[in-house]
This record gives sequence, C-alpha cells and structure tokens, in this order.
Amino acid sequence: MVSRVIPVDPFDLVIFGGTGDLARRKILPGLYRRFLDGQMPPEARVIGAARSEMDEDGYRDFVRAAIEEFVDARRRDPERIEAFLERLGYVAIDARGTGGWQELRDRMRAGVVRAFYFSVAPALFGDLAERLHGFGIADGDSRLVVEKPFGHDLASARALNTTLAAHFNEAQIYRIDHYLGKETVQNLMAVRFANILFEPLWNAQYVDHVQITVAETVGVDGRGSYYDQSGAMRDMVQNHLMQLLCLIAMEPPNRFDPDAVRDEKLKVIRALDPVAPEDIVRGQYGAVGGQPGYREDVGNSDSRTESYVALRVHVSNWRWKGTPFYLRTGKRLRARSSEIAITFREPPHSIFGEDERWKENVLVIRLQPNEGIKLRVMIKEPGPGGMRLVNVPLDMSFAEALGEGGTDIPDAYERLIMDVIRGNQTLFMRGDEVEAAWAWTDPVIAEWVDAGSRPVSYDPGTSGPEDALMLMHRDGRRWREITP
Ligand code: NAD
Repeated sequence: MVSRVIPVDPFDLVIFGGTGDLARRKILPGLYRRFLDGQMPPEARVIGAARSEMDEDGYRDFVRAAIEEFVDARRRDPERIEAFLERLGYVAIDARGTGGWQELRDRMRAGVVRAFYFSVAPALFGDLAERLHGFGIADGDSRLVVEKPFGHDLASARALNTTLAAHFNEAQIYRIDHYLGKETVQNLMAVRFANILFEPLWNAQYVDHVQITVAETVGVDGRGSYYDQSGAMRDMVQNHLMQLLCLIAMEPPNRFDPDAVRDEKLKVIRALDPVAPEDIVRGQYGAVGGQPGYREDVGNSDSRTESYVALRVHVSNWRWKGTPFYLRTGKRLRARSSEIAITFREPPHSIFGEDERWKENVLVIRLQPNEGIKLRVMIKEPGPGGMRLVNVPLDMSFAEALGEGGTDIPDAYERLIMDVIRGNQTLFMRGDEVEAAWAWTDPVIAEWVDAGSRPVSYDPGTSGPEDALMLMHRDGRRWREITP
C-alpha cells in the first residue's frame, strides 16, 4: 500500500536542546525521514538552539552523525542527507541569559509557521517561554512543543501551566506524550470508531477486564538521579498508561477534533476511583549474578522508589462499572513489550458441550515491538473428527498491511512534530488533562510515602514481583505473558 504524504506548510522549527540526547536520537532523525518522504516543503527550516558553542558546520556534522546512527541504513542516501542538512541552522543560546536571543530573532522569517520545541530540562521551560515572548520571537500563532515530564505532582504541573499561560494560550501549547503518536494507538481509535463491530461490545456488560502492559528490558539507563526522584508511577503511569487507558475507556467523541477527544479523555480521568493500597504492587529490581540492582544503578542504597508498579483501577461510570483495568509497567523485565489487551466475557451458553473448552475473545493492541492488532476468536479446528474448537488470532499486523516490512511507519515523534506544524492538537495533552492525571496520582503516591512502604524486590529478566500475580489471581484472572 502506498501511503499518501501531504506536505505541511513552510515552517521555522527551533529545537531548544538541539544537541541533547532526545534531539539526536529521535527529533532530528525523524525530521530527516519526513524530509525524505517529501513532507517538508522546500522552505522548511530547522534551527538547533542549545548551550554549546558551535558553528553551523559543526551542527551539521552533529546531525549527520545522528542520522548515521539512528536512521535505518536503507534510508540513508548521502545526497539526500546533505540536502536535508542544508535546511539546518544553529544558534548558541543561553536559556537563562540573554546570549543568542537577538540572533535567533533575526533568523526567524515572516509568513511561515513558527514552532519551538522545548527539548530541555523542564526547569528551563519558563525561562524559554519568557524570552521567546520578551524578545518578540514568538507571536500569537507560534507553537510550543513541551517535553515530558510535565510536572512532578499537581502543584508543579499547575505552576508550569501558569508559567506557560503567562505568554501563550492553550491552543499554542503542545504537550508531548509520544505514546499517542504511535500508529497503533491511533489505530485503536480507528478500530473503535470506524467499525460497527466493536463499539456495541465496548462496555462492562461484554468486557471482562482490560490489561495494559508497558514492559522494558532496560534499567534506569544513566538517568538514575532523575528516575529515583520519579519512579514508575510518575514516569510512566501518570502519563503514558493513563493516556492509553483514556483512549480505551472514553466515550466516542462527536468529532475527531482536539477538544472533542480531549474532553472525553478528561472525563475518564475524572471518573477514576482512588486506588486502594491493596490494589497496588510496587517493585524494585534486585541485583543478580554480579549485575547491579536498582539501588546500585541509582546510587541510593536506601531507595524506596519503584522501578515496577502494577495497579487495579476502576473507572466509575455506567460504561465501565464492574470491569477492572489492570495496569503494569516496569524496568528490567523479561521482554520489551507494550500492549493493551481487552478480554471479552464468555458467551452466555455453549452449544458445543462441556468438553469444548471455551477460551476468551481477546483484542490485543500491540504498541511495540511489531505494532499490530489481533483479535483472538474461536473457530472449528480444521478437518474431520467432529466439532472441536480452537482459539486463533485474526491478525492485522501493520508490517504486512501497510508496506514492506512495516519500516515505513513513521516514528511517533515525527508524526507528532508534523501535527504541530499542521496545528493539530488532537494527540497532545491539554493542561487540564495533565492536572487531572496528577490529581489522581498524587494521593496514591502520598499514601505509600505516609505509610513508609518499601517496594518488593524482583529478579531482573522476570515478569516482575510475585505479588503482582496475586493482584489478578485473587480476581480469578491472570496476566498475559510478557513476550517480545
Ligand atoms: P540532554 O541533557 O541530553 O540535553 C539537554 C539539552 O539542553 C542540550 O542540548 C543542552 O545544550 C541544552 N541546555 C541545557 N541547559 C541549557 C541552557 N541553560 N540554555 C540553553 N540550552 C541548554 O537532555 P535530553 O535527554 O535530550 O532531554 C531533553 C528533554 O526531553 C527533557 O525534558 C527530558 O525529560 C525529555 N525527554 C527525553 C527523553 C530521552 O530519551 N532523552 C525521553 C523523553 C523525554
């Protein structure tokens, strides 16, 4: 299938933190791929802005190296890379001072979309917003892209929203959650709302339970000091898992329009019950076979921060009363795997008798790796020998459905950046949504801080702590296997 690539309007995109890790691994390689696919019009420009003193040739060398490292070899064409690098500029800038700002102002062109990507530590967001405004670089149509984490709790998220709102209105602010940029996540909405099949069953009467898993094999990966202040609940559940839960649980918006979608997501967050302490399991990976454990990785021998969390969550509304949502995420687990599994209830009566064991219909939305959607259904086992049933997947893997090897599926970041240029906020979190998510998260964390609770230890390379199994066993259910 040939995908349609519609070029965006001409733009000036300034990447604050343009020499950082995120810019190098995701933003710049992603922009190159959009360029390659013809989505960047000839007038589009990208300006790196960071603290390092560097000239434009130096920045181009930096970006060339990033492309060499992070773009698939089949898509690296030396001529095209050079043509892309022509679009780049660089300004050394001090977010907290005055250096570089006048030069940046002089670089900006009239009559093109202006977007500013804040790929720097959140402590600098306010400084950048203030200077963009003060130096007259941003206007009423400019867009800000804001990276995670958006706050550490409700109070800090509110403060950040207030800081940004001092100079920009909500329609200009794009809070990134890259999970929302994934092809499958958007496909989840297409599957739900573009087919008649699922929506009538999409409620507590027919859905037994939902599992959302985001499993990583990596540990804290050099981000130890940040992570130890955060933990899985803040780093993953409050944003990514919450967003996935919202897309599954929300009512159909009347239009695929930013505020219509975000209004429905907000209602879900507000309908979440507080989580009881017995519905939470926190874990920390231990040291095994000479490999450092979490505490060694973060350099804090008494750390009580969780590298794993599993929760049973209830959405208290008519649609979902009685259908638990089980969420889990963790580091150093058996496999890198993110998926949503919606398990439907048993048919009310089996016409095939007791011997034919029925297995659930499960809709599995796989985010990574191998993005795709599978629906497990019962069919007759082929061949003679009577009516024997077998549970098989109806498979829609995007790799096969959408092109060679699926490698042409744009990465979440590149898709989201193009949405910014198009001015489409649907896949970005609104300020009130983020605050509502923190308002639900804060008491959960406060409870275990007050109780002085310690996470339980789990072995790296497993599915997480044993206690997490109990969270489902006691409901007569079990977690799906974490498989690559
Ligand atoms: P980094 O430390 O690698 O890079 C920071 C960048 O900010 C550098 O370009 C540096 O020059 C610039 N910078 C620092 N102080 C500055 C100042 N005073 N003035 C101007 N520029 C300054 O950080 P990163 O890993 O690229 O992360 C950037 C943002 O993205 C953070 O908010 C982070 O939480 C978020 N994020 C990163 C990742 C990731 O994979 N790296 C993933 C998700 C979110």
